[in-house]
Amino acid sequence: MTDSFHESLLNNNEFTITYELVPGRGSGGKRLEKILRLAEDAKKDGRIKALSITDNPGGHPALAPSSLGLDIQAMGISPLIHFSLKDKNRNMAESQLFECHRHNLRNLLVLGGDYPRYGFHGQAMPVFDLDSTQLLSLIDRLRYHPPLEEGAPGRIMELPPMIFFAGCVVSPFKTMESEQVWQYVKLLTKIRCGAQFVISQLGFDMKKYAELLRLIRDQHLSTPLIANVFVPTLSVAKIMNSGRVPGVILPDKLLQRMQDEAKGADRGEEARLLRAAKMVAVLRDTGYSGVHLGGNNLSFDSISFLLDKAETFVGTGQQLVEEVHFPEPSTWYLYGNCSRAPRKRNFPILFAANDLLHRQIFCEDGHLFPLAAKISHTAEKSHSLRRFYTFFEHLIKKILFRCRMCGDCTLAESSYLCPQYGCPKRMINGPCGGSNNGFCEVYPNERLCFWVRAYQRGIAPDCNHINGLPMLPPKDWSLNTSSSWLNFFSGRDHCRLKSKDRKLKAES
Ligand code: SF4
Repeated sequence: MTDSFHESLLNNNEFTITYELVPGRGSGGKRLEKILRLAEDAKKDGRIKALSITDNPGGHPALAPSSLGLDIQAMGISPLIHFSLKDKNRNMAESQLFECHRHNLRNLLVLGGDYPRYGFHGQAMPVFDLDSTQLLSLIDRLRYHPPLEEGAPGRIMELPPMIFFAGCVVSPFKTMESEQVWQYVKLLTKIRCGAQFVISQLGFDMKKYAELLRLIRDQHLSTPLIANVFVPTLSVAKIMNSGRVPGVILPDKLLQRMQDEAKGADRGEEARLLRAAKMVAVLRDTGYSGVHLGGNNLSFDSISFLLDKAETFVGTGQQLVEEVHFPEPSTWYLYGNCSRAPRKRNFPILFAANDLLHRQIFCEDGHLFPLAAKISHTAEKSHSLRRFYTFFEHLIKKILFRCRMCGDCTLAESSYLCPQYGCPKRMINGPCGGSNNGFCEVYPNERLCFWVRAYQRGIAPDCNHINGLPMLPPKDWSLNTSSSWLNFFSGRDHCRLKSKDRKLKAES
């Protein structure tokens, strides 16, 4: 079955346009009717290649994207399903992948999603059982006709290959080095895990859009890059400017411009659309593969006006950059601010002591490794010894790291800070995109993002060497509350993937 979005994005001669739909709560009503009318108009117009559908946007319950996706697909336009991980565990995610595949909903935008904010009788429980890198690697695995794992129910049945066109998101609009470097490292990790296209966070700093494109080119990647161009109303711009939308920066200078424009007869609507049209032209001329449009209460007439104007500006993008460039003051840029000098780190002695001890005990060439392995294998043999060993580990790590005894320790991968305690989304493969000016999306202006703190303590990653990292697999929840040390030496934790023969070596 042909898919206009997939075909357009992989065609280097085409500039792909998508538009974001935001379904609300409920299975019908005026809002949904308006969305469907817009989809019909988009189909007739023909320039929009996919309509993307958000998944419980803002952390609130809303109509499932697959439901609206089927309606849109029936109209003959490609749906792009946002597949977020805040509300579903790995089994639900897999089940929904089967559902999407069965209904030919193959275009997926994989993302962690906003922290749940509201639900029936209070805030919903945040799930985040998988992160976006892990889901992308699950999707990649489904592609290759995989045999089921040892011990999986229904193992006698083979899974048919399931081909998706799965993309990911990234924010180039972070203001701090620590946030930005992690965003790029995680982006490259996602591409390693199978992301086939990338959509940026919305933003208004044209130098940052160019930076992201240059990074992809410097890495010799051919992954298509789509820039997110959002047309906010003045009221939404004020909310974004106040930092209340996770991961979104709308600088004071742009808000001031919009306030001036709002004094006009049309309350600044034409100026907003013209600015977005110029952004589209600049991004097209810069080399982006497409744009992802979004906005509040935009009618299709407004979208059509924007696209018409953008076409008239194409080829003049470089002259228009300054008109649409709204940087946040003191933003850090990869190409310009990345210093060759070693960066100043927080608590370097603490980090060095933890690292030294870790290497001595948990690396095969460490001096304490044989002794630690021997004690662990002895403890493994007796129930009471195991309980004492687990109690001892918990006591030490609770005091030092506020350990939650997840049973699969990733302290060494996050500068000896515990993500199970320190990150509300329990991200183990780098940050989500929700931080603002270094602060966690869940505790704005109160708590620094866990991964910002990890960056400020650790040696890697470094802005001079931005590379994707090996993905840490999802936690095996059967290990929860057990000893991570025992699990390490017995080959049950994530390190089993690094060294399957550790157990054998330690025993000998
Ligand atoms: S065992 Fe899990 S909960 Fe404990 S410190 Fe390590 S990562 Fe954190």
